[in-house]
Amino acid sequence: MRLPFIVIVDDDMQVLRSIQRDVRNEYRQEYRIIATGSANEAMELIKELKLKNEMVALIISDQRMPEMEGVDFLESLKEIYPDAKLVLLTAYSDIEAVIRAINKVKLDYYLVKPWNPPREKLYPVLDDLLGEWQALYKPVIEGIRIIGYQWSPKSHRLKEFLSGNLVPFLWMDVETHQDAEKYIMSANKSQSDLPLVVLRDGSFMTDPVLPELAARIGLQQKATGIMYDVLIIGGGPAGLSASVYGSCEGLKTLLIERSNPGGQAGNSARIENYLGFPNGLSGAELTQRAIAQTLRFGTEVLTPKAVKNIRVQDGYKIIEMTDGSEIQSKSIVIATGVEYAKLEVAGIDKFTGSGVYYGSASVEARACREEIVYIVGGGNSACQAALHISKFAKQVNILIRQDGIKNTAANYLAENISKTNNIRVLPNTEVVSVDGGNVLEQITLKNTRTGEENPVPAKAMFIYIGTKPGTDWVNDFVLKDEKGFIITGAELMKTKSFRQLWKLDRDPFMPETSVPGIFASGDVRCSALAGISSAVAEGAMAIRFVRKYLNEM
Ligand SMILES: Cc1cc2nc3c(=O)[nH]c(=O)nc-3n(C[C@H](O)[C@H](O)[C@H](O)COP(=O)(O)OP(=O)(O)OC[C@H]3O[C@@H](n4cnc5c(N)ncnc54)[C@H](O)[C@@H]3O)c2cc1C
Repeated sequence: MRLPFIVIVDDDMQVLRSIQRDVRNEYRQEYRIIATGSANEAMELIKELKLKNEMVALIISDQRMPEMEGVDFLESLKEIYPDAKLVLLTAYSDIEAVIRAINKVKLDYYLVKPWNPPREKLYPVLDDLLGEWQALYKPVIEGIRIIGYQWSPKSHRLKEFLSGNLVPFLWMDVETHQDAEKYIMSANKSQSDLPLVVLRDGSFMTDPVLPELAARIGLQQKATGIMYDVLIIGGGPAGLSASVYGSCEGLKTLLIERSNPGGQAGNSARIENYLGFPNGLSGAELTQRAIAQTLRFGTEVLTPKAVKNIRVQDGYKIIEMTDGSEIQSKSIVIATGVEYAKLEVAGIDKFTGSGVYYGSASVEARACREEIVYIVGGGNSACQAALHISKFAKQVNILIRQDGIKNTAANYLAENISKTNNIRVLPNTEVVSVDGGNVLEQITLKNTRTGEENPVPAKAMFIYIGTKPGTDWVNDFVLKDEKGFIITGAELMKTKSFRQLWKLDRDPFMPETSVPGIFASGDVRCSALAGISSAVAEGAMAIRFVRKYLNEM
């Protein structure tokens, strides 16, 4: 356990040395003691301790200091460490003035100089104060803090990124968390600078861009190799599985993920149909296990990094990233899955991230405590999200254009929904507009049968209305169907352009695209069966064929 601090400040070096010596002699086993001759320096030091999440038990300050009076100094620190015990050192002649000031600040004690012998005049006082502090203090939760506005898209982006990358953090809503303001003060920032991210070492960043934050928290940002055997694009279940099998089989493997490993599955609050987990498991847990496994086998994982182009030169593949860097590989597995389809209604862009969310149920569910929440869509993901959010929200409303969720959701989900008191299914209903000030406040619902429109108050709306493949960036030499899914294997051979593109004597392997050595697996592949188990199986299978391809090179 980290020891709490005692801070001493006195501009008179002789007094400073002697009180520091006496305090050290008695308390150094249980406290870390720091002493300084300047009130301003002490102030900065204490702010630094706050940012590092250190505990301060006691602050001893002289009253007469050139930069400011001790009473004012201690008063300003009360805002940062309200529970710390405050002791003023004063000369006999100052006592009256000090007592007047003390009433204002609520000091814990004033100590008249000199305090000899310390065993009679100093230690009994400090023992009492420190004993009281020890009895009342609550241990600080360590780790990264994000301080911001609950319904701000900037805060949401950071929370989503950290939780998606399985980095624990403490969220502090500036409007409700009692400690939030103390961090803002300690960083010498104001509310207009939010969100503020305070890292473990006490350093901080205001509204950081994700790659910078990623680098600061130790996520790998640069490939170490010059040439990889297999480069996997996308860190969902298919990509993670391919990376585990690639590294496990001794291939030099690199995985590139645009945002958070886990893909769509990472957003799943409870996966109940994954083999071997009879009680289900969360997407975050599955991702965490997969990441740990792939790193153990030696995969390099770059995140957040997006691929924007692929070139092929003498059979080798060159990947161009959105940050301008390039990486070379002998083979590629594209596992970029699908993205959420956007809901096209008036006002939606303004509130995306500040009340309107695509996925993200697991990140924002707690913020919906006692609120009325809407879920758009009636498929499996929408129902999973509704069940998860219902643990926190007052009421969850599932909006679906059809007559009900019987034909759109799996049986077990529909049954669970019907048994959950605070979930309502609103059939034949669609959203036509969203409204509010800075954050979402109201949505307008339309009955698709009667055409009647009805505005209702809403704090949050989660959208699950289908998906589209994330392949806009994939070059045309990789054949796609009319919806953008990547065509592979036998289906390729049925396309008109196959003969112009394919020049090898053999047929394409089952997961191989129109470019030899570029494979596709998971939801992004045309004709793939969507779902986590299928994606995992496809990722593993892609590696079998990567091996065959590498053997021919
Ligand atoms: C909320 C929710 C709950 C679900 N629950 C279940 C369930 O319980 N059971 C089940 O079987 N299925 C479930 N599914 C479906 C399942 O999650 C998907 O079928 C599965 O995740 C597909 O895996 P994938 O790896 O093919 O693609 P994805 O999971 O979509 O992963 C693709 C990854 O590629 C990344 N990427 C995209 N473009 C780029 C680029 N240019 N550069 C780098 N990276 C990129 C993305 O950021 C993403 O992380 C659920 C889906 C959702 C949305």
